[in-house]
Amino acid sequence: MLEVKNLNKYYQETETPALAGVSFSLPSQKIFSVFGSSGSGKTTLLKIIAGLVQPSSGEILLDGTGIKGPEDVLVAGHEEIKIVFQDFQLKHMMTVTENINYALLAYEEDYRKHRLNTLLEVCLLEEYKTQYVHQLSGGQKQRVAIARAIANEPRLLLMDEPFSNLDLKAKSSLRDIIKNIVDQTESSVIFVSHDPEEVMMLSDQILIIEAGKITQSGIPSSIYNFPNSISIAEMFSPILKFVISGETSYHRPESIKITKNDYFDLKGQVIGSDYLGKYQLLKVIVNDPIDQLIICPDYQNEYKINDLIKISLTNPLPTFIDE
Ligand code: ADP
Ligand code: MG
Repeated sequence: MLEVKNLNKYYQETETPALAGVSFSLPSQKIFSVFGSSGSGKTTLLKIIAGLVQPSSGEILLDGTGIKGPEDVLVAGHEEIKIVFQDFQLKHMMTVTENINYALLAYEEDYRKHRLNTLLEVCLLEEYKTQYVHQLSGGQKQRVAIARAIANEPRLLLMDEPFSNLDLKAKSSLRDIIKNIVDQTESSVIFVSHDPEEVMMLSDQILIIEAGKITQSGIPSSIYNFPNSISIAEMFSPILKFVISGETSYHRPESIKITKNDYFDLKGQVIGSDYLGKYQLLKVIVNDPIDQLIICPDYQNEYKINDLIKISLTNPLPTFIDE
């Protein structure tokens, strides 16, 4: 459905590019996420796909037709591609219904009423339909912005950091809405995020972006278990490095088990801890190699300073991540 081919973007000619050689293809009814740190090029990529920023080179095809950049058209943007920005761009002195109807002006009244009801339902807005936008919470405003964006059933919905600034309940509603959009229409969604849990929970495919390049893409479990590099591995959890008898291995916290038992690989002593509720992170000095400090999770909140423990390591990350 969407083909992105070898996109490059230089904001200044002499500077390093904001995007370099970005290519991917997105089928219908799929949710893709663009995941990377601040400044890695996520917003630039979204705006170029939306036709709002001119790429320096490269091509974007929607169902085989080229998307034109803002320098090539009179009005920037594309009918079939809608983007929801973080400031929502709503009419605050109008009601929810009025805001959504604004996007439905081209339709006849019967269809408009029907479509309005569908949008209120999909975006979990039925109980707020007569309220003014300025009376709504951030999460509710965002849902109105989404309803407007999908009013004309675009092929592609783009969302820039939709989960930031939402509380847990609003995040969960937003996940349901995004899944509904993709299940009930032919649309696909690309969202940008720097929250590892959101991209893991919602993405059919994650595109990892680092310094303007897509350095890995794949389904969540393949990226989590087979990251291409330490830097990608560290985007999803802390990575613990062990050097045991001269052999280096890298582990996610959940692959480390500690016990009071005597049969395991490593001996250590707890010298400190950070309590996190669900678990505590122990600072442990191990004796191979001598006096290595490691941090390991204790999911039962069982251990305390000075305890002697044994550590067993399961499921190391692939060694090729060690550059
Ligand atoms: P992200 O959304 O991942 O934080 P951006 O796409 O906003 O990243 O920015 C990528 C890079 O491009 C950054 O180095 C940023 O400073 C630069 N950049 C973004 N927008 C502009 C602009 N309008 N003019 C010049 N440089 C820009
Ligand atoms: Mg951004």
